[in-house]
Amino acid sequence: MRIIKTIKQLRQILDKARHKKQKIGCVATMGYFHEGHLSLMRRAKKECDICVVSIYVNPKQFGPKEDLRRYPRDIKHDAAMVKKENVDILFIPSDNVVYPNCYLTYIDVEKISGMLCGKYRQGHFRGVATVVAKLLNMVAPDVMYLGQKDAQQVKVLSQMVADLNFPVTLRVVPTAREKDGLAMSSRNIHLSAHQRAQAPVIYRALKAAVVQIKAGERSASRITGHIHQMIRQDSSGKVQYVACVDADTLEPLKILKGKVLIALGVFFGKTRLIDNVIVPLKNSRKV
Ligand code: AMP
Repeated sequence: MRIIKTIKQLRQILDKARHKKQKIGCVATMGYFHEGHLSLMRRAKKECDICVVSIYVNPKQFGPKEDLRRYPRDIKHDAAMVKKENVDILFIPSDNVVYPNCYLTYIDVEKISGMLCGKYRQGHFRGVATVVAKLLNMVAPDVMYLGQKDAQQVKVLSQMVADLNFPVTLRVVPTAREKDGLAMSSRNIHLSAHQRAQAPVIYRALKAAVVQIKAGERSASRITGHIHQMIRQDSSGKVQYVACVDADTLEPLKILKGKVLIALGVFFGKTRLIDNVIVPLKNSRKV
């Protein structure tokens, strides 16, 4: 595995690979790896000749009151983990490499960036879209692997790739979970033992919603109401939002139909956790 820090070096290696017609897969991350990240890398290894993993904690996707400084980092441990996965290139650019002093260009994916998490994290998806556009230009992969855990991120990036004609295929990998259902996240490390024990209520509530929908419930407000209630009853978690939206457009639904995305953000203390499920519906019943 090669650890690369400059764009020039990265391009030299990848140009050679492209010349040999090798397929390049890319996994963009903020590091502090867990099984969720590894599942993306394994998929890339399986489907591509070269797997590039980037680690960059992108300051532009954190709001002024968010956890940029607190975001967990452990490059040495991360490097050891990706080496075990036989990742070919670990790209770790510095702030100067990604955003040189005179940096002025941003990517705004309108409308969908302001929905769901975007309502509460202004500028977040602008930062995400900008850094991913830059990484796509640096790595120029054939395929980029994204996690379903960040459902809105997948939507924003798919829109960007389509709108700006990036020659890349995006592949979405299912959410990796702990045994008790908690979605894996680098931020889980910040949970106290008590919060960690309570946090699986998030996925339990989502699964209960799926059961209700399968039993015929079609009212979005009743579904979100139940989720709120379960989280309030079983934990100290503070729900920031729960929403039932159209999985393709992210438009809010009153009556559930089509492909439904149920997404939520919950605070446990200062730690914000997100999760989601997709429920494909054929027809509507109880209203
Ligand atoms: P991050 O380092 O949190 O920015 O995540 C890097 C990539 O890993 C993104 O595409 C995430 O959606 C994905 N990812 C993060 N957590 C998970 C998870 N639990 N399961 C699957 N993919 C994940």
